[in-house]
Amino acid sequence: MPIDFSFTPDQEAFRQAVRTFLEREVVPVLGRMDEEEEFPAETVRRMQEEGYFGVPVPEEYGGLGLGKVGYALLLEELGRVDASHGTIVGAHTSLGTTPLLYYGTEEQKRRWLLPAAQGKKLLAFSLTEPGSGSDSGAVRTRAEREGDGWVVTGNKIYVSNGKEADTIVLIAANDPALGPKGGVTAFLLDRGDPGFSVGRCEKKMGLHGTSTAELVLDHVRLGPERVLGEVGRGFVVAMTTLDVGRVSLGAASLGAMEAALSEALTFTSQRTQFGRPISELEVVQFRLADMAMKIQALRYLVYHAAAHQDRMGTDPASWSRTERAEKTREASTVKCLGSEWASEVIDQALQLHGGLGYIRGTPIERAYRDARISEIFEGTNEIQRLVVARDLLTRGA
Ligand SMILES: Cc1cc2nc3c(=O)[nH]c(=O)nc-3n(C[C@H](O)[C@H](O)[C@H](O)COP(=O)(O)OP(=O)(O)OC[C@H]3O[C@@H](n4cnc5c(N)ncnc54)[C@H](O)[C@@H]3O)c2cc1C
Repeated sequence: MPIDFSFTPDQEAFRQAVRTFLEREVVPVLGRMDEEEEFPAETVRRMQEEGYFGVPVPEEYGGLGLGKVGYALLLEELGRVDASHGTIVGAHTSLGTTPLLYYGTEEQKRRWLLPAAQGKKLLAFSLTEPGSGSDSGAVRTRAEREGDGWVVTGNKIYVSNGKEADTIVLIAANDPALGPKGGVTAFLLDRGDPGFSVGRCEKKMGLHGTSTAELVLDHVRLGPERVLGEVGRGFVVAMTTLDVGRVSLGAASLGAMEAALSEALTFTSQRTQFGRPISELEVVQFRLADMAMKIQALRYLVYHAAAHQDRMGTDPASWSRTERAEKTREASTVKCLGSEWASEVIDQALQLHGGLGYIRGTPIERAYRDARISEIFEGTNEIQRLVVARDLLTRGA
């Protein structure tokens, strides 16, 4: 297993370009976005124009072709400035473009992946239902055969980008009795499909720039070209997709931790109490050091996992059992540790700001509210621990 890792000059240049762009165009809108709980349509459009909605997608399918490492760089930079923009990009890219790239036919890639990677269409991914969260194989949204096509009926919840997406990767049960092993299929649902509507949009603690929507499917008729991957293999499509999402969530957590440490360093160096900057207090220094150690450890984990996924390529049929198992365990590790360390580091940074950290509108206050969800979505951290434990008990340490 290769352990050494360094960024190429092109990757460094990409990071710098993203950082400059975000500072110039995204940072100025964040206060208003958070207060008004508004989807940031204008900055999303600008990011689409820059190609940031197709970073890991090969150029032949309209993307920038920068792989998972390039994509992690993007998410790390987004994590430094705003989790809402990170989630919008992540729901589209990790969860929308990945299953199309990995499992789509050539025709599906041309029709759905290309415009999505070019930034002309927005994607979402819908697995969760009122009765099926952690137990994601228990989906009840029903896909019944009709001729050579399908009729889909049911309710989905908590779909990021659900209100705005042009196309949604939808996981439904073709045979509820079979469950995840053969009874679940992935479909491509378009906004204009008759019978499909967006229901309730949730009010949330954080991620105020994102929609978290209910989807209502009332006898939606889908042709055979809407099946993504094989009939009955939708659970595998969903889990493989989440492996990519979990690494990018780790990258976003890394960025959020870096921003929190940077703010804590600035604040504690400037804030004077008892006649000296509080950064001169050893207890403060210890906290800053703990933050920096977690950041360094997570950086290695994230880029190791992203580089591994790049080496594996985008054809799931070519992966050995061992490769799949390693990838899944790495993704769960990165997601779980990254989200918990981010919550801890941001909490510590907020504490070091004293009362100011609790005041609405400071970046650290928004980061604190935004960070919590990463321990929950794309599989709760309890589920990540189950994934790691199962692999330990199957393959060993
Ligand atoms: C803001 C937001 C955005 C989201 N975006 C999306 C999206 O784009 N697409 C999508 O499909 N979903 C999305 N989700 C859904 C999210 O992935 C689920 O909420 C999450 O997987 C947990 O499911 P649940 O809420 O049903 O909780 P439950 O599954 O009901 O879990 C409740 C508690 O029980 C624990 N638990 C459950 N089973 C076990 C077990 N076997 N062992 C140990 N503990 C267990 C859980 O860890 C948790 O602590 C989003 C959710 C939110 C809040």
